[in-house]
Amino acid sequence: MLATVPVPDKHVADYVEAAGEEAVERLREVARPLRGLRLLQLNSTSFGGGVAELLYTHVPLLNDLGIGTTWAVLQGSDDYFAVTKAVHNALQGQAVEWTPQMAATYWDRIVANAAEIPDDFDVHLVHDPQPAAVLRVLEEQGRRSGTWIWRCHIDLSAPHEPVWRFFEPLVNRYDAAIFTLPEFARPGIEGPRLAFIPPSIDPLSVKNRPVSPETIVEVLAAYGIDPARPIIVQVSRFDPWKDPLGVIDAYRLVRKEVPDVQLIMAGSLATDDPEGLRYLDLTEEHRAGDPDIHLFTNLQGVGDLEINVFQQAAWVIVQKSIREGFGLVVAEGMWKRKPVVGGNTGGIRLQVVDGVTGYLVDDVESCARRVVELLMDPALRDRMGQAGHERVRERFLSLRELEDHLRLIAELVGVGP
Ligand code: UDP
Repeated sequence: MLATVPVPDKHVADYVEAAGEEAVERLREVARPLRGLRLLQLNSTSFGGGVAELLYTHVPLLNDLGIGTTWAVLQGSDDYFAVTKAVHNALQGQAVEWTPQMAATYWDRIVANAAEIPDDFDVHLVHDPQPAAVLRVLEEQGRRSGTWIWRCHIDLSAPHEPVWRFFEPLVNRYDAAIFTLPEFARPGIEGPRLAFIPPSIDPLSVKNRPVSPETIVEVLAAYGIDPARPIIVQVSRFDPWKDPLGVIDAYRLVRKEVPDVQLIMAGSLATDDPEGLRYLDLTEEHRAGDPDIHLFTNLQGVGDLEINVFQQAAWVIVQKSIREGFGLVVAEGMWKRKPVVGGNTGGIRLQVVDGVTGYLVDDVESCARRVVELLMDPALRDRMGQAGHERVRERFLSLRELEDHLRLIAELVGVGP
């Protein structure tokens, strides 16, 4: 068996206050006929990034609903993760080199991992391209059993073709494929039933629950941030698609209008993202020693509580991505009643209602302009923050996503509520 990830206990009943009685009841109703089912969630990292974040909540809640769920993590290697990061970039549109050697490195880990997948799960939910090919190996070995769903968290609308040609036949074997948005699905996908389900955040997690004002002051002091001065925050892995260099450029324009502004950029270094350190160095270089730009990673002890505090302390949250599957950090910021200035792309467009919960921006200049506007206008910040909170409550909390998953599973395995 692959390595499994231990998760804390969580109970659906505890979500009544955050999500509402009705949402809890609806979820229970959909789960009832699926009780006793065994579900395997398979991804490539137990830490860092959005998928790990989701599974940390979904797995215990599914178990609480009576669906026996195990979270397994594919065992990679440095070479393999270098290849899968290139695949990730290529599938989001970057022209990367794709060599037979890279394909061989990928297959090597896939075959080893497929051998460790037990055959007694009813449903398999496989996340992203990293583990996608295990199904083909199982089929070739005559070991395919149960239902297989591929959950693609990235934007496949304009992939680099050579890499997509490699993956297309691998994902077309699945019974269903879930994308965040219809425009992310590739027209070439034929075979799997398509479902469009946006991700969600857990309102009760350490990252999202309310924090006392004392804790906020304490944490900010520990990280050298002045709570009395304006704060802009971007929380993201250090990755070109998140445009950390563009965020610094925007901050520099903002500072001309709001000289005492501070910028916090926090990004954990995920184990499946070998580019992180290199891009952190580039960002550090671009910071050029500015003491009001604070770059933090998990290596400085920035964990869920600290991220929560930074988001709560922000006057404006920025997510200046160039490509973005969903951007959980956007929902996290909106849930905390913050206006979000986000890149006009992918899943950010689904979350930010331009002019209502924040602004969608296309470049550094418009990003800076909107941030200045918000920093100058507390009433606007409050209004947009409140609207954002309501939007997340209605559409982007964990129970809604679980309900959507279970409806799809019920259709695939042929049971209905
Ligand atoms: N995150 C974190 N610490 C960091 C940076 C990110 O805990 O230093 C979390 C962040 O709060 C969010 C997730 O990692 O929950 C990132 O998910 P998102 O969908 O925004 O981006 P991804 O990394 O999956 O591309």
